[in-house]
Amino acid sequence: MPVKHIQEYRDREIARRLIAQIHAASRKPIRLMEVCGTHTMSIFRSGLRSLLPETITLVSGPGCPVCVTAQREIDQFVALARREDVILTTFGDLLRVPGSGSSLQQERAAGCDVRVVYSPLDALAIGRAATRERAWSFSGVGFETTAPTVAAALLSARAQGVSNFLVFAAHKRTPPAVAALMAAPDLRVDGFLLPGHVCLVTGTRAFQPLVDRYRIPCVVGGFEPLDLLGALARLVAQIEAGAAVLENAYERAVTAGGNAKAQAVMEAVFATVDAEWRGLGVIPESGLKIAEAHRALDAEACFDLSVPDVPEPRGCACGQVLKGLKIPTDCALYQKTCTPMHPVGPCMVSSEGTCAAYYRYHGGEGA
Ligand code: SF4
Repeated sequence: MPVKHIQEYRDREIARRLIAQIHAASRKPIRLMEVCGTHTMSIFRSGLRSLLPETITLVSGPGCPVCVTAQREIDQFVALARREDVILTTFGDLLRVPGSGSSLQQERAAGCDVRVVYSPLDALAIGRAATRERAWSFSGVGFETTAPTVAAALLSARAQGVSNFLVFAAHKRTPPAVAALMAAPDLRVDGFLLPGHVCLVTGTRAFQPLVDRYRIPCVVGGFEPLDLLGALARLVAQIEAGAAVLENAYERAVTAGGNAKAQAVMEAVFATVDAEWRGLGVIPESGLKIAEAHRALDAEACFDLSVPDVPEPRGCACGQVLKGLKIPTDCALYQKTCTPMHPVGPCMVSSEGTCAAYYRYHGGEGA
């Protein structure tokens, strides 16, 4: 029986038409980057790669929040978890991400109080029940998709007078990262598939200056197979026509202005800062930290979390994978020392990580 709101985005006839359209339009070799990890997984899961012409190479970008969280930030989370006066709450994906010497999972196994939550509001609820002597800290990573919920939890904590709910904000902003990729002299991407859920919050307007400046085709896409095929068809058509505009192929969810409430709550809580991205270095104005007005609930302001600078693991090609310069199988560690059970780099940890997706769908064990 057809499932409403699912089946209508998986219609075989429409899919066949879009695939034929892509094949007919695609004449020269092109590389397209899906910026977002959810796109990477949807493309693999629905088998779209095998349906595209050989002229099209899909590469993944820096859109998995766990993958781009700097090693230094993981080390700071570990330092936070080791404090006896802190109970650390985190999303599950972050647990196994290796820092320079440990991970939150290892710290939990060693007896530190690290708890997995599904929402920052869950963390706040636990925090309300906690004793006043212990600080309750939430490790906030993610893009514009998760930052509003963390901001809302923090405002809620203030409104309820919960003073022991602290947030370590390591959020990243997507448009500056895409701008950094577009500006890179070694860019090997002909068009960008932009993340529908980020644009739902930011609006397409946040990406317009990038397209105007760098003249690279961009299309906002949703996450069902027909959404993806429709967006890819538009990208190919633009490239073959020599056009470079921003198109919205996810109109049922994304508007030009985005979600004003989510933007307002982020503005109320966070300040925009330069941020370090794993493998990509520091990108100007690409991070969100707790604003001065909420310093009392900022874990970084409350504790000394200075950690030494440690180089990223030797041989790990995550940085080049996140820039679309390499695919996971180009990495010498892939499937050898780096597997989902024993990840060396963060791209192998997260369910949205490119290396983990390759391992699962592209010849790794259990593929
Ligand atoms: Fe990094 Fe492992 Fe991917 Fe290599 S296979 S790029 S080490 S995550």
